[in-house]
Amino acid sequence: MLEVSDLVVSYGPVAAVKSISLEVGKGELVTVLGANGVGKTSTLNAIMGLAPIQSGRIVYNGTLLNSQSVEARHGIGIGFSPEGRRVFGPLTVHENLKAGGAGLKGVDLEDRIDQVTVRFPILRERIAQEAATLSGGEQQMLAIARALMHEPEFLILDEPSLGLAPKIVSEMFELISGLHAEGTTILLVEQNMRKSLSIADRAYVLSLGEITTSGPARTLLEDPEILDAYLGYP
Ligand code: ATP
Repeated sequence: MLEVSDLVVSYGPVAAVKSISLEVGKGELVTVLGANGVGKTSTLNAIMGLAPIQSGRIVYNGTLLNSQSVEARHGIGIGFSPEGRRVFGPLTVHENLKAGGAGLKGVDLEDRIDQVTVRFPILRERIAQEAATLSGGEQQMLAIARALMHEPEFLILDEPSLGLAPKIVSEMFELISGLHAEGTTILLVEQNMRKSLSIADRAYVLSLGEITTSGPARTLLEDPEILDAYLGYP
């Protein structure tokens, strides 16, 4: 479904991502793991057209994405929840969801908001509330709900558990796991190694802009070297 080949992302002279290749098959949940600053967000942003690609190819269902607009990516079925939630603070939950559905043709936006919020009862309760006044967990839910407005078949999530209380983190992973079980293909960037590996099919581990390890999530979860190397990352 998604093939990233020899991707290099540079901000000025230093490459943040150094020739990485990864793929995500239809129906898979693939996680990209690694410590702070190793290039996880840069990789996702490059896939979404939001980071400078120096070289490499990003192909989605046979279409080269490199020079396509961000909007075009939404149009072909890719949903994106960026790092740090990035909800529109002064807008209400409802307005944020409407913004997420911008450009939808032949669809009743209100019906779509209804469908999307079925799995987020808290967002239904808070539908008229300003997004800035939501808790961190609620804002993260809203960011994911917004990404679901276009009914993406491929969902990209950047650190959805970042900064959330442990109970909410567990709920977040259950939500992601549920979306996967319903058939959504997911690329998940996380620092929460153990939890991500426990719900993923496969994983790539990034270190200083390069993939150092990859394989079935279950294998990595049981690999003492991996766990040792990432001691300190839950
Ligand atoms: P984190 O988990 O902390 O978000 P990450 O693994 O997602 O880290 P990136 O955010 O991709 O890593 O950052 C990789 C490197 O690129 C870092 O050294 C970072 O400082 C640098 N970088 C990221 N974005 C920019 C930018 N817009 N301009 C310059 N350097 C950047």
